[in-house]
Amino acid sequence: MDYAHPSWIEIDSSQLVKNIEIIRSKIGKTLLCLPVKANAYGHGLIGVSKIAEAAGVDALAVSCLQEGAELRKAGIQCRIIVLGAIHEDQVEDLVHFNLEFSISSQYKAELVAKKLSQKCRVHLEVETGIQRTGVRPATALGLIQYLQSIPCFEVVGVYSHFAQSEIPKDPVTLKQLQIFQELCALPPFRGLTRHMANSGGVLYYPEVHLDMVRPGILCYGYLPGKEKLPSAFEGIAPCLTLKSKISYFKVVEAGLGIGYNHTYYTKKKTRIVTIPIGYGDGFSRMLSNRGSVLIRGKRFSIAGIVCMDQFMVDVGDEEMYVGDEVVLIGKQGNEEISLQEMANTCQSVPYEILCLFNQRIPRKFKGAL
Ligand SMILES: *Cc1c(COP(=O)(O)O)cnc(C)c1O
Repeated sequence: MDYAHPSWIEIDSSQLVKNIEIIRSKIGKTLLCLPVKANAYGHGLIGVSKIAEAAGVDALAVSCLQEGAELRKAGIQCRIIVLGAIHEDQVEDLVHFNLEFSISSQYKAELVAKKLSQKCRVHLEVETGIQRTGVRPATALGLIQYLQSIPCFEVVGVYSHFAQSEIPKDPVTLKQLQIFQELCALPPFRGLTRHMANSGGVLYYPEVHLDMVRPGILCYGYLPGKEKLPSAFEGIAPCLTLKSKISYFKVVEAGLGIGYNHTYYTKKKTRIVTIPIGYGDGFSRMLSNRGSVLIRGKRFSIAGIVCMDQFMVDVGDEEMYVGDEVVLIGKQGNEEISLQEMANTCQSVPYEILCLFNQRIPRKFKGAL
């Protein structure tokens, strides 16, 4: 499985633990659930989950059955919550792998009840203003009463999700919180684990920490929006670096086209190096002629179109060799290419850029437990 590869993602395990501990110190007795969906935001599902479990997170959150099953097969024992809407055919496996899952409609609840003889642990998902999944507050009361009346359901939590909590003092967010709080005050919801805060909620809305929080991007060291990191959370930092090694070097005469369709021409006789990572790894083609890399502590621009498996860089007169380390996201010397910078170049957000990196890129955990 883990063959050497010329490009890799390096995870600083102690920084990941530090991020978790800083968040933990800000939420008091509130439980911490770490979202590890989408291969732990590209960081590596199993590696991150093992570190998080050892660091004492109270639960892991995944999007679907597959991710939860993979965690159990890797020996993860802590609580796992499946956040996405489930399909009724998944119910037996969800129970088999001891995964808690969401109920977000009367319809699904009845399908589950029909399929299931054993007990399952569920969270009622309530819609408060994102119109994605979740039962409307007006029907949530009836649904929870139904769930509580059927023996196969053990309702353990009630939750909702924010549309734009990365904006501080946002009226939409405050409204969502109010709707959720009013519902949770009703008798059938008492004693359930109430959870709503994603990273924005944790950072900017302390009143929404409730019984459990689900910060994803913040645990990985990034911010959910455009705000600066609040000083109370100082110390949280990215734990991911994307690295490669120069695979080829050549001297190219002036006036020659580089790469597919010759979108870049050498202005003078120059040195061109090849970096063995491309859009086939999830390194976006949007970075063609726009992105940068760091080599020997200096910044260079990508020359030409990013290919499926590699791309070229014009390094001018700089001396460098095949095998030199290249940083594509992260720090090298005094220079840094932040994930946010790459996301801006790609007209995207850090979340998506992380998720693009696929299984072809090995994840190496430095200082892993
Ligand atoms: C992805 C997700 C989160 C985490 O969001 P971040 O913005 O990364 O903190 C929390 N809750 C739900 C339901 C999610 O889907």
